[in-house]
Amino acid sequence: MPDSIEGLLNNPGLSPQHQQIAAKILQNERITFEEGVFLYEYGELPYLGMLANYIREKRHGDKTFFNRNFHIEPTNLCVYDCKFCSYSRLLKQRSEGWEYTMDEMFDIVKKYDNQPVTEVHIVGGVLPQYDVPFYVELFQRIRNHRPDLHIKALTPVEYHYIFKKAKISYAEGMKLMMEAGLQSIPGGGAEIFHPKVRELIAKDKCTADQWLAIHEEWHKLGGKSNATMLYGHIEKFWHRVDHMERLRQLQDKTGGFQTFIPLKFRNQDNQMSNVPESTVIEDLRNYAIARIYLDNFDHIKAYWAMISRNTAQLSLNFGVDDIDGTLDDTTKIYSMAGAEEKHPGMSTKELVELIKQVGREPIERDTLYNVVTNYQDYQFEEDVKPKFYKLPVLN
Ligand code: SF4
Repeated sequence: MPDSIEGLLNNPGLSPQHQQIAAKILQNERITFEEGVFLYEYGELPYLGMLANYIREKRHGDKTFFNRNFHIEPTNLCVYDCKFCSYSRLLKQRSEGWEYTMDEMFDIVKKYDNQPVTEVHIVGGVLPQYDVPFYVELFQRIRNHRPDLHIKALTPVEYHYIFKKAKISYAEGMKLMMEAGLQSIPGGGAEIFHPKVRELIAKDKCTADQWLAIHEEWHKLGGKSNATMLYGHIEKFWHRVDHMERLRQLQDKTGGFQTFIPLKFRNQDNQMSNVPESTVIEDLRNYAIARIYLDNFDHIKAYWAMISRNTAQLSLNFGVDDIDGTLDDTTKIYSMAGAEEKHPGMSTKELVELIKQVGREPIERDTLYNVVTNYQDYQFEEDVKPKFYKLPVLN
């Protein structure tokens, strides 16, 4: 394998199709749906990595983003029954679940008073008591208490449910949420858009069109959001490309997406435990193809808590430029699905070291990717203090 993307173009060992795709990337041209499928079927890891890293470095150089955030998960009970979900407890298993009250959620926010976190990420199961008035009040309370904390909350799965119950349109609902203090929407609930797969794994909750329509309404109001894809279960490669194609089309229309986040299917403790998980090689191939295909998305994110710290480091050479946040052990979504991290939380120093160890430049960002601190030449207080004292020399 040549050591540059230009070298790929004249490599006799590569097929004309591989060369043609490399030429497109070099000329900043978009690849087609068929070429996306071709990459999944015939793209080997070194080839994909070279293309994806070329795009990543052209956009961001070595910059690698993370933020300081915490999660609130209002409940792990849910009216839906997604087959891949290790998190939710159906209503009949209510004893195994939690349902935070408004005050309990607000107490979690107050715990971070005087701490330099920039974002609260709120997402969880769907229950009738968490309705439009509830979330309007919660967002207002957080906004009034701490105006500098960015509220990123709820997915179209929740919004579709609560707006339907309140008998209001998506446009009316999103406007209400924005007025209450919502600032951006996370990427969850997308799973796989194609109806054949969605019907089998996530029946009953919002459809692909509804998911996309809610993001579109939010973008029309000037809001930003993210998008995910749950991969590595029963879907075929072309379903993944179909998923990304729908996102690429909406992004052409609105420009409101910031980040694409591939989510690895984990098989612990859910109704799809018989389905094997994808390999690390497939995970890296998938990040790389996402970086190549989604030419109108600025960022590709890997959740370090989901894929492990080592794979997160590796992913930075396969198109990923963001490894999420400090988390502070405030989410159970990954650990309950079988992720290696049982109590996910990293100090800023640990995150910075993780990024520096693989030669990248650590940048703390806020939710909208404004730079909070560039840690490239930053010295942490504990590094300045001497770790040992010189012993006197005895003659
Ligand atoms: S994935 Fe979300 S919507 Fe589906 S059961 Fe789990 S918590 Fe509910």
